[in-house]
Amino acid sequence: MSSSFENSILFANKMDQQDPLNSFRNKFFIPQHEGHDCIYFCGNSLGLQPKNTAVYVNEELQDWARLGVEGHFKPTTGWFGYHELVRESIANVVGALPLEVAVMNHLTVNLHLLLVSFYRPTKDRFKIICEAGAFPSDRYALQSQARFHGFDPNDAIIELEPSKGSDLIAPEDILNAIEDCGDELALVMFGGVHYFTGQVLDMKAITDAAHEVGAYAGFDLAHAVGNLKLELHNWNVDFAAWCSYKYLNGGPGTVGGIFVNERHAKNPYLPRFAGWWGNDPETRFKMPHQFTPVLSADSWQLSNAPILEMAALRASLELFADATMDKLTAKSLDLTSYLLFVIRDVLKYKGKENLISIVTPFEAQLKGCQLSLQFATDGKQIFDSITKSGVISDWREPDQQGRGSGVIRVAPVPLYNSFKDAYRFGQLLNEAI
Ligand SMILES: *Cc1c(COP(=O)(O)O)cnc(C)c1O
Repeated sequence: MSSSFENSILFANKMDQQDPLNSFRNKFFIPQHEGHDCIYFCGNSLGLQPKNTAVYVNEELQDWARLGVEGHFKPTTGWFGYHELVRESIANVVGALPLEVAVMNHLTVNLHLLLVSFYRPTKDRFKIICEAGAFPSDRYALQSQARFHGFDPNDAIIELEPSKGSDLIAPEDILNAIEDCGDELALVMFGGVHYFTGQVLDMKAITDAAHEVGAYAGFDLAHAVGNLKLELHNWNVDFAAWCSYKYLNGGPGTVGGIFVNERHAKNPYLPRFAGWWGNDPETRFKMPHQFTPVLSADSWQLSNAPILEMAALRASLELFADATMDKLTAKSLDLTSYLLFVIRDVLKYKGKENLISIVTPFEAQLKGCQLSLQFATDGKQIFDSITKSGVISDWREPDQQGRGSGVIRVAPVPLYNSFKDAYRFGQLLNEAI
């Protein structure tokens, strides 16, 4: 594809015209800069607001005003079963059976609830393998779980470092570490897409390797959900959790979600923390003395659903259902390839090929929309300059090893970003360097 790319507005416009998803941009509010659309490349941090969000949220506000408590059992969108309205669409986004997903709580909370079930260490089998430099919240969750079970996190947690001279963890290092740990290994937990480097992991291979030694495999999908085509069920993943405010456009801090593999979800003996919303809905309101878990991921639910957050998420998931992950990932590949082409073209034109190195192994993996651009010098000045010109992206200070002058993460999102955005980014980068 990239051999036929051109760094021109004519070419970018042509790509936008041919894009079968081009009508979706208009279904979002795009932040403005001096009377023009911003180049919003920050969907990896906070997705944009669908225009339908307010409609869906207002509907529930009005029903609450109109009906009060009766809203729980109004037709179609009754709050008692509101989570059913998002079940199928989120199951499609993550490649799960409907019974394997539940929309509930928030990411770190959900990780803890899942670790209750999937990290039950014994004296002999208590180790966790995860990535070094994981998102702090995930690291705190794992450390506190190890401590909670009476283990020193330094003994229990094996943090895999990137290979020497690289920012990336070599896939074979993960598989070897799992094999080496063998029957001491209780759990493998990784980010499906690394939040900083954008590296996508082979979740199926990791899951297979974990199962081979009798461990569970779970994934934090914060940067994967809505970004990659996931097949959690087919990959036989044990559990996963995600937030819905990044690529899923559910709104700041909105309700997250979980995946629990069918074989665990249907096992009533797997220990889990219980609350009334995880009880079989047939008997939930009879307030039985004894907890009877509904035999699905829903049994990890504790509390009744946050309806306003769910309504916001529903608006966005409807767009995912219309667009389909297949079409989104196909466009994503073209769009990110084009952005990469434009950036390289600008650097070549400036004779500054060494100014930016692309940390993300994008060409090797050809999936996920994020590119992490590491600057040899002047990273912060260039970031400030493009920001002033209307680019919204994300700045990370130089890493702990002090390499480079920091990283700009850019995520062209196939639902609402255009090829013209990628072209204009190149123009502004050109001016900034
Ligand atoms: C965004 C993100 C989080 C945020 O956690 P919350 O509980 O939603 O605040 C956690 N982990 C990773 C990897 C993330 O990217």
